[in-house]
Amino acid sequence: MAKFTKQELINDLQKMGVVEGDILVIAADLGEVGMVEGKLSDVILDALLETVGTSGTIVAPCFTNYYYIQTIDKQDVFDIHKAPNSGSLSRIMWKHPKSHRSLHPTNSFVAIGDKAEEIMKGHDEHALSYDPIGKATELGAKMFLIGCVASSPGFFTVHYAQQALGLTQKRFLKPKRGVYFKDAKNETQLFIKKDFGGCAKGCYKFYSYYVMEGGLTTGNFGSANCIIMNGKRAYNVAYDLLKTNPRFALCDNPLCGSCRASWSFNKRDYILYYFRKLFSSIKKH
Ligand SMILES: [Zn+2]
Repeated sequence: MAKFTKQELINDLQKMGVVEGDILVIAADLGEVGMVEGKLSDVILDALLETVGTSGTIVAPCFTNYYYIQTIDKQDVFDIHKAPNSGSLSRIMWKHPKSHRSLHPTNSFVAIGDKAEEIMKGHDEHALSYDPIGKATELGAKMFLIGCVASSPGFFTVHYAQQALGLTQKRFLKPKRGVYFKDAKNETQLFIKKDFGGCAKGCYKFYSYYVMEGGLTTGNFGSANCIIMNGKRAYNVAYDLLKTNPRFALCDNPLCGSCRASWSFNKRDYILYYFRKLFSSIKKH
C-alpha cells in the first residue's frame, strides 16, 4: 500500500485552501490518515506546521479527566504536565517543545505557532471552557476536521456558540463534577466544573447549513475525509440556529443521557427518557 509523503499531505492541505499565516483549530482522528513515509506523528505535525508557516498557528483540544465529586480521585491532579485524553493529535502537540497549553483544569487547549500564546492566555480555572475558540475565531481561524467528520462530528464553534448563549451552563439537577488542580502558586485546589459542551453527536445537523452558507470546503488529508470552514462564518451559523432553538444540537439517540436528561432547555425529554431507560434495563435482565 502506498505511503503518503509529507509533501503529499502539504498538497492536500493547500488544495483545501490552507495557506501561510492560517490559524487552524483542528479536531482529528489521525488513525484515518493512512500510512505515511516516516513517523506518523512527525510527518503529520510537520505537514500542518510547514503549510501554515511561521506566521501561522495550529490549535487543538487538550482535555483531561474529571469526576463526580463523590468519587473524585485525589491523586489525579491537573497541571500543565498532565497527559491529555482528547486524541493523538493533542498528545503530539502537547509534547512539542514549542507548544503552549492553557491552564483550564478540564478543557485546556494546546497551540503551536505565532498566535499560540495569545490564544491560550487567560484560559485558566476562572475562564469558561471554550474561550480559546472565541479568541481564535476573532483572529480569523479556520475550523478543521480531519478524519472525524462523521465519527465525532462538528466544529468547536458550535460549543463556543452554546457558551456565548449561556447554554453550556444550563445543566439541570446534576451532581457536581470536577478535579483537583495546581493553582498559580502551585497549591492543590478543587475545581468544580460549571460549564459543559455535552454530547456532540448531533453536530452533523449543522453541516447542511454550512453548505448553504457557502463556506464549507471538503477534501482529504492522506486517506482522511476533511471539512474546513472559516470559524466566524461557522460560528454565526451555529449561533443563529441555537438562538432560535437551543435543542438543535441534541443527538438522535433516545437513550443519550447527556442530550435527553441533563439540560434545563430540554425538560420535555426527561420523563420519556427515564421510561426508556427503565425498559431497556429490564430487557437486559
Ligand atoms: Zn447525545
